[in-house]
Amino acid sequence: MSAAILFATNTPKYSSFLVNLCRELYPDVKAFLPGEPGAENAQIAACWAPDQDLLIEYPNIKLIHSVAAGVDHLGETLLTAGLPVCRVVDDGQKIGMFEYILYGILNVQRNFDKAIQEQSIKNWQRYPIRKKKDIRIGFLGLGELGGYVSSQLAAFGYSVYGWSRTKKFLQDVHCYFGEDGLDSLLEQSDIVVNILPLNASTQGILNAQVFNKMPEGSYLINCGRGDHLVEADLIQAIESGHLRGALLDVFSVEPLPENNPLWTTQGVSITPHVASDASKPEIIHQLVDNAKKLAAEERLNNQINPTLGY
Ligand code: NDP
Repeated sequence: MSAAILFATNTPKYSSFLVNLCRELYPDVKAFLPGEPGAENAQIAACWAPDQDLLIEYPNIKLIHSVAAGVDHLGETLLTAGLPVCRVVDDGQKIGMFEYILYGILNVQRNFDKAIQEQSIKNWQRYPIRKKKDIRIGFLGLGELGGYVSSQLAAFGYSVYGWSRTKKFLQDVHCYFGEDGLDSLLEQSDIVVNILPLNASTQGILNAQVFNKMPEGSYLINCGRGDHLVEADLIQAIESGHLRGALLDVFSVEPLPENNPLWTTQGVSITPHVASDASKPEIIHQLVDNAKKLAAEERLNNQINPTLGY
């Protein structure tokens, strides 16, 4: 197999790490950093937030491969270049996402978020314990990640709802779709979990209109993308007392700037884009597998629909 892969992430250290791992796992595959001799022959670009001039500098690229689950970071120029775009789908990443979302749910269900606030004022305050089945969780997005996590939580005993673009059938998950479906989900969710991909139709979807439809005292978990959220609307919904709070993993600007008011909004918990990730060897395995498929002109794995953008 003679395919050559160019590792083009926005962090030279991360690109170098992936190149070295690829050389170690697959000595027969040619792995390059941008600018290295021979890189101009690369047919596959393995990317995270790459330079938008990538295809001008490397005209032999025939496949753009995200090194993550999302593809929004590739940018409009590369997403609309007419080349196939693939992404990584990893079972381990699904488990990591389940753990993260379960943490957010338990925080609310068992009032651990309130206990932390009470500790800061040395107040001994006990709360009633709510059963899993009494906690209604609404998922925005029922794809690889949302589909897996919602099903696991339903099997674990929570009352789970989900929303997607097209109708889905998942055991014990009450599935909605379309605009009316979104309203039905929001109205009956104690916790809304966003795990949608970012595209033109989902940008800014977590806004005042949506928050107003969520029940009094409900909670948001955002592990999709920062641009799904209108930050000022969330702060307003929490400070007015309508929403209990939010667990946020992703932000429009990352790292979250020091002066961003989310840092200090009471009820907001922040994690630095760590909800879950694919294992590094798995990323390399999937890249190389698709490189082989490209060379053999076979159907690629995990190729996105360019019209839908995911
Ligand atoms: P998938 O492409 O597998 O699933 C996307 C889901 O969103 C599908 O159910 C799809 O519906 C639904 N959807 C897309 N657009 C709309 C819309 N306009 N209205 C309603 N539903 C819509 O994606 P994954 O599950 O693999 O990943 C989702 C996102 O999670 C990634 O794009 C990434 O942004 C984020 N992510 C975050 C991580 C973190 O650490 N914070 C880690 C990994 C991913 P349908 O199937 O009907 O088309």
